[in-house]
Amino acid sequence: MQEGSVMASVIVVGSYNQDHVWTSDALPAPGATRLGRYASGPGGKGFNQAVASARVGAATVFITALGEDAAADTARALAADDGITLCAEIHPSLPSGTAGIFVDGDGRNVIVVAPGANEALSVDFIGAQADAFAQAGVVLAQLEVDADAVLAALQAGRAAGALTVLNPAPANAPTRDALLAAADILTPNETEFAAMLARHAGVAVGADTLADLPPPALHALCRQLAHDATVVITLGAGGVFVSHRDGDLRGDADAFYRQHCTPVQAVDTTGAGDAFSGALAARLAQWPRDTPFAAAVSFANAYAGWSTERPGGAASMRRVATP
Ligand code: ADP
Repeated sequence: MQEGSVMASVIVVGSYNQDHVWTSDALPAPGATRLGRYASGPGGKGFNQAVASARVGAATVFITALGEDAAADTARALAADDGITLCAEIHPSLPSGTAGIFVDGDGRNVIVVAPGANEALSVDFIGAQADAFAQAGVVLAQLEVDADAVLAALQAGRAAGALTVLNPAPANAPTRDALLAAADILTPNETEFAAMLARHAGVAVGADTLADLPPPALHALCRQLAHDATVVITLGAGGVFVSHRDGDLRGDADAFYRQHCTPVQAVDTTGAGDAFSGALAARLAQWPRDTPFAAAVSFANAYAGWSTERPGGAASMRRVATP
């Protein structure tokens, strides 16, 4: 089953989760019950990134999989609120994705994610979205939905002439060589980069040491991981590091460089990486192809910083005027 019609500059392929958050003074010990407060809201890296893209002003299609439940209704309503074209594969026998999040008075949390329908996003459904891919300037995906569907989406995007961006998150999601090869741009955070480097290049580096490496050394590691793709490592409050392959600097003057962050009053960094990837995809789709890549990175770096000034994932994404 399918919902939605299509017309896009950015296609985001990924997860929708309904987050259920219980806050209590302390986390319950096994077998214990505590009183607390409850809130529910949208989550999932795919949805967060689609919201960022839409709020940066890009025409955005969100391809996902949902159950036939209240969370699916919420996803439809929220996508409509942000002008996102929702293209959902509906699985009546599965729940929509959920996350149960328990937070204590110090902000520590424990989380259980039930991917539900996200895991059932199918290659066939991606294949049926040819009209959407034909309109795409950028295809952006993460790894919270079925990996074969992600691969099919990146390949469909590339075949249609779109730029393909893979945010290889979460860090424990298995990446495959074919996925890396299908991406023009990779946007890992430090943990995800270190995990991929170990998996694909057999190189062990500490995630927390990356930001302190000399830039030429970090560039060399990026090239070991991804021979062709541009790698953009997000370094939290340390900003970002960009590494291009020789011969395709995407309009930049340098093959590698670091951008620092604009200082912000960070209150909650949840979804900062999603803000970055969504905003980067939006600007790459909106701006002419010959615009220096560094300009889009600079905007995404600032946009992700702003997202840390407000609590929440999708809720923390700012609406900005179109370029
Ligand atoms: P993730 O959410 O995947 O862990 P990061 O923590 O690397 O991603 O953050 C993504 C981006 O968000 C950073 O590259 C930066 O642009 C911005 N950011 C995160 N934390 C801060 C901060 N404390 N101050 C300014 N910008 C930040």
